[in-house]
Amino acid sequence: MNIHEYQGKQLLSQLGVPILAGDVAYSIHDAERIARWLDEDVVVLKAQIHAGGRGKAGGVKIAHSLNEVIEGADALFNKRLITPQTPPEGKQVNRVYIEAGCKIAQEFYFCILVNRQTGGNDLIASREGGMDIEEVAAKDASLIHRVSLDSGSDLQPHHVRSLCYAMGLSGRVGRRVQDVMTRIYKGFCALDAYMVEINPLAVTEDEHVYVLDCKATFDDNALYRQRQVEEMRDDDEMDPLELEASRHDLNYVKLHGNIGLMVNGAGLSMATMDIIKHFGGEAANFMDVAGAATPQRVAAAFKLIYRDEDVRGILLNIFGGMMRCNDIAEGLVQAAREVGLKKPLVVRLEGTNVEQGQKILRDSGLPISPVGGMEEAARTIVEQVKAG
Ligand code: ADP
Ligand code: MG
Repeated sequence: MNIHEYQGKQLLSQLGVPILAGDVAYSIHDAERIARWLDEDVVVLKAQIHAGGRGKAGGVKIAHSLNEVIEGADALFNKRLITPQTPPEGKQVNRVYIEAGCKIAQEFYFCILVNRQTGGNDLIASREGGMDIEEVAAKDASLIHRVSLDSGSDLQPHHVRSLCYAMGLSGRVGRRVQDVMTRIYKGFCALDAYMVEINPLAVTEDEHVYVLDCKATFDDNALYRQRQVEEMRDDDEMDPLELEASRHDLNYVKLHGNIGLMVNGAGLSMATMDIIKHFGGEAANFMDVAGAATPQRVAAAFKLIYRDEDVRGILLNIFGGMMRCNDIAEGLVQAAREVGLKKPLVVRLEGTNVEQGQKILRDSGLPISPVGGMEEAARTIVEQVKAG
């Protein structure tokens, strides 16, 4: 799960990480009220969307007066912001963070993320902050410094110190940056984050250190024990179908093809996507009706995929082990009746009571093709979708 910049800053500030004063606005009126309250010579208006690259795309505005705050807010609210990290149509701005401005002397890059290979955490830092880190890496990889902690190891002072040395920091500023990095690391662990990226971590002309931007991603499987993070979920940022899927506990990811898939188990889902491709088709989604494929969840998954306008045909490939195939078939037939099935639907059921399940499908009078094997299933749905 991702959160907004201002939410990341809220979480970090609770751990003593220095941030500038600010508050989130939901309207132009809010923006004006917050700017009055801040009472600073310079305030910065920052569009809150789950994507970076806002600065260059006009999503960060500097205001020197209340009038400029109102103008800036007017230019951001309810507009679509397109950055290199948004989908091509951009993202609508519903929230704007109003923050005190500061005089930046230097911008650093700092990121912590779980290393999937080692299972430990990696810390990455660079003195070329503020800009796209991929650009820095392409220009001169020696400007990027990494410390990899072993799985289960704690962060030691020398880890952070070595990053600060590498970035050419020393003295009071060096010690402040060290302290901030250590606190961010504690927050990263305590909050079950998967990635926290601070770009920039700014040093001001008066030698203070502030987190100026914050991008954070959290482990979905740990959200049950991170209530404060869970409550920061912004449904407007999610794909409507993915949101609906998460309500039913379905593992759903929208893809670019036109064949909707319903499968149980991540392994079988991947294999099904591969075989679809093998026969010249393209999956419209990854859908793992994980755990027990109960008739209710199969019905919910089916309706969700059916609603997707890109889907021209559906393949259900479910192994009914704990769940009986006849129950799954009942759930599917009922859902298919409810939507008034018009798109081709190929069903490959395997497991307990498979004959009964197939009979229910055949007797339903609906245009459903029950098939025996996976190859046949994939070939049939690809052919039916091509025949359109
Ligand atoms: P993004 O990464 O999406 O472009 P940032 O939050 O990093 O957005 O902001 C872009 C740039 O705007 C920063 O690199 C910094 O130079 C400037 N900036 C952001 N917040 C402030 C602030 N409060 N005061 C002064 N400058 C800021
Ligand atoms: Mg940034």
